[in-house]
Amino acid sequence: MSPCETIETEVLIAGGGGAGTRAAIEAAEQGAKVLLVNKGPLARSGLTTMAGGGVAAVMGDHPEDSPRSHFEDTIKRGHYLGDQNLVEVLTEEAPARLQELEGFGAKGPPHPLLHKTGHSHPRGLFLKGHRIMTALKEWASCHADNLTIWEDALLTRLLTAGGQVAGAVAFDMREGKTFVIKAKAVIVATGGLGELFPYTTNAPHGIAGDSTGSGVAQACAIGAKLVDMEFIQFYPAIGLFPPILRNVHLNLEIATSLLGGTLRNAQGEAFLEEFVKRGVMVRDVSTRLAYEEIKGGRGTEHGGLYWDAGMSADLSMEEIVRKVSEEYGQGGILSTGRRLKAIGHSLAEPLEFRCGAHFACGGIQISEKTETNIPGLYAAGEATGGIHGANRLAGNAVPDLLVFGKRAGENAAAYARSSSQQAIDESEVRKENERIFGYLEGKPNGISVKEIRRDLQQVVDDCLGPSRNGPSLVSAAAHIQGLNDGLPRIQVANVKEFNITWVRAIETPHMLALAEVIARSSLLRTESRGNHQREDYPRPDNRRWLRHTVAQLKDDDLEMTTTPVVITRLEPPWE
Ligand SMILES: Cc1cc2nc3c(=O)[nH]c(=O)nc-3n(C[C@H](O)[C@H](O)[C@H](O)COP(=O)(O)OP(=O)(O)OC[C@H]3O[C@@H](n4cnc5c(N)ncnc54)[C@H](O)[C@@H]3O)c2cc1C
Repeated sequence: MSPCETIETEVLIAGGGGAGTRAAIEAAEQGAKVLLVNKGPLARSGLTTMAGGGVAAVMGDHPEDSPRSHFEDTIKRGHYLGDQNLVEVLTEEAPARLQELEGFGAKGPPHPLLHKTGHSHPRGLFLKGHRIMTALKEWASCHADNLTIWEDALLTRLLTAGGQVAGAVAFDMREGKTFVIKAKAVIVATGGLGELFPYTTNAPHGIAGDSTGSGVAQACAIGAKLVDMEFIQFYPAIGLFPPILRNVHLNLEIATSLLGGTLRNAQGEAFLEEFVKRGVMVRDVSTRLAYEEIKGGRGTEHGGLYWDAGMSADLSMEEIVRKVSEEYGQGGILSTGRRLKAIGHSLAEPLEFRCGAHFACGGIQISEKTETNIPGLYAAGEATGGIHGANRLAGNAVPDLLVFGKRAGENAAAYARSSSQQAIDESEVRKENERIFGYLEGKPNGISVKEIRRDLQQVVDDCLGPSRNGPSLVSAAAHIQGLNDGLPRIQVANVKEFNITWVRAIETPHMLALAEVIARSSLLRTESRGNHQREDYPRPDNRRWLRHTVAQLKDDDLEMTTTPVVITRLEPPWE
């Protein structure tokens, strides 16, 4: 086993997407010594880089718009489950957070204000994720004196002492070595968990690795509360067939309203027509209706539905791209178009799509200061819960990561200034080292990571998709727990440098832990609301369920409870 070197910092950040990088900048500006550890290269990994361009914030261009209106849209589309104190912060501070990025070059192409589905007014910017990340990277480089960025490394286990954060174990992929990082404050900004699902927008083109939820699972392992983990937002349409389109997300509004296409089931019947006529595709509702077609036995042989291009089938790909670009700026249709062109697929043949996991609405519970229930532990971005409620409004994730990323950096730095470094528990470090290097050892009944992940994704797809029911959730939770038995048998090739399969092995227990939390949270919520639909409880139950589910590990057992939603301004319908 490799020896474990020790590194010291004041603020340690897990994850260098938008939330983590914004947090790092702020903590460094406050004078803290900051170490940001990111699983991939900065601005070339994570979901922020992939964000399509819709960024919701009231930028003062629409006379009737206001942060209050943005607040109300967010609460209502989240089915009254967003904590209103957090949503106030989000909607009030988003414009300032976007404006300050402009100074570092984050400008979109000139484009009219976007009127995204679910918003009362056209609002926000068209600003692609890679521009945001490039600007944040540029800004972060101004703080090289006290901000260190460590790429191709990940945190594998958070460490506490006396219930307080003490640091973490980190794994360097380039060398295949572990390190102990001593830190007074830790910020978890590790993004989403879409890769628990076989179909997801979070792992485009089948390349997996960033969105495993590993930071959230590590926070859970030290006792942090996770809220509303049952709310997985599914994107109604991601490519299924031809295989080159797998997991590429298709914009249904573009596909139907703009290009005049039709959505059909395998029997050739059009569906979602009402939405198409109105030109809106609210994600939770369109996902549910599309999923019901498939579940009702009207899906294609590949398990999806058809997008029939109709009139647009006669247009060349160049014409389609021009049309879409005029309406939506540089649209993501480019990637779909290039792929189809590469395999000589004509739009005269229908494409197949299905829904895929897109965004985790639940996550680590935070206060307005991004504090968790563990002293010294902060969280920001998609890793957190309680902001988006039961359904995230389009364009709200980017403002979330900027607003709460800044707050996390500021508050973690303040905490680090006023606290002392906790002692590291060497036995915890030893256990983690044994776990990590144990995967390289030969075993009589060794199994591959692939096998265990395939089983996990199967049960997650079967039982934790857009439509759920009690008996299958019970069996999913039991099945996932059973998969833990296979963990000690995982065996990977004994290669230390850049062994991605080894990294996958290291994160697999984190994924199993989160899948179990999702199953147990889904079981606890005996109602249907937003992204959580129960066949056996088909209606919302406002009297009992205007509450968050809470999962917390206590004495190695997952305790499931509930807590009321924070209401400040907008009274929910209680009946
Ligand atoms: C295809 C797509 C399009 C989208 N379009 C939009 C849009 O138009 N508008 C909008 O508002 N939102 C959009 N979203 C959602 C939005 O992009 C994400 O919610 C947001 O970027 C998440 O930011 P984050 O900083 O929390 O996480 P990320 O940007 O995913 O960053 C997390 C980082 O943490 C790293 N990491 C993970 N685990 C560890 C670990 N254990 N140790 C160290 N590092 C780790 C990852 O490698 C990653 O780099 C889109 C999402 C997708 C998938």
